[in-house]
Amino acid sequence: MEIAVASGKGGTGKTTVSLSLATYYRDKGFKVALLDCDVEEPNANLFLNAELTEKVECKILLPKVDDSLCTGCGKCDELCEYSAIVLIKGKPLVLPEMCHSCGGCALICPEKAITEIERAIGVIEKGEKDGIKFAGGRLNIGEVLSPPLIGDVKENYPDADIRILDSPPGTSCPVIESVKHADFLILVAEPTPFGLNDLKLAAGMGEALGLPSAVVINKGGDNDRMIKEFCESVGLPVIESIPDNRTVAEKYSRGDCVSIIRENYSDKLEKITEHIRLSSRGQR
Ligand code: SF4
Ligand code: SF4
Repeated sequence: MEIAVASGKGGTGKTTVSLSLATYYRDKGFKVALLDCDVEEPNANLFLNAELTEKVECKILLPKVDDSLCTGCGKCDELCEYSAIVLIKGKPLVLPEMCHSCGGCALICPEKAITEIERAIGVIEKGEKDGIKFAGGRLNIGEVLSPPLIGDVKENYPDADIRILDSPPGTSCPVIESVKHADFLILVAEPTPFGLNDLKLAAGMGEALGLPSAVVINKGGDNDRMIKEFCESVGLPVIESIPDNRTVAEKYSRGDCVSIIRENYSDKLEKITEHIRLSSRGQR
């Protein structure tokens, strides 16, 4: 089963929830993999502390033009939806950061002047900690195209019983790449006006993708009502509210938020995982 943990905004506690779920399932005897798909700001392993034993480069294909064959016909420029290859004074110029590696320009070139070369956009780091397998992507500085790296992160540990995907924040392409095939989507929300606004966007994304989804409120308290009212209005279950707790915050700042959640909120984790068990794809 693949469980994606996402949120409309950063800092809501996605990674805390992801790690808590990973340790919960590990404690129950499942083979668990934690996949950090937040490749622009990977932080899951800051808390898991897996010893990283493997590093693999993620490469994408980039067009390369042979000027001696190019006639300047402009067909590549016309084809490219992303303006990643543009004709300037009759010569095609490739803009690597814009290229989505679709290969279309190489196919359409009548002179076979375009070949494809590999370009590294980031790395995938792998390791294990106390029975939890870990893989996380790290996008190279300056790169903007993270979905291919996220796709490669998700290739790891296909034989795990439970794969937890710690998604990037927001609702843009990297998030969709992370969550699109999940069996269940947990949306972590904090009960603030900003949190509510971003939850609305994330809930819309989950619905558009047809994902079974539910909300876990983090840093919950008196303001939970605003999240619950919205969720009720759109038929989105709120499974649990993890209270705002100074001790958790202090432990988080020292890189250990998971143990305290396991120790103090195991009943909440039980409830969350039971809801996932009953509502994930395949159970419905
Ligand atoms: S399609 Fe080929 S020949 Fe035409 S401009 Fe592009 S690279 Fe040159
Ligand atoms: S590979 Fe695709 S996205 Fe990249 S320059 Fe060619 S047509 Fe554009």
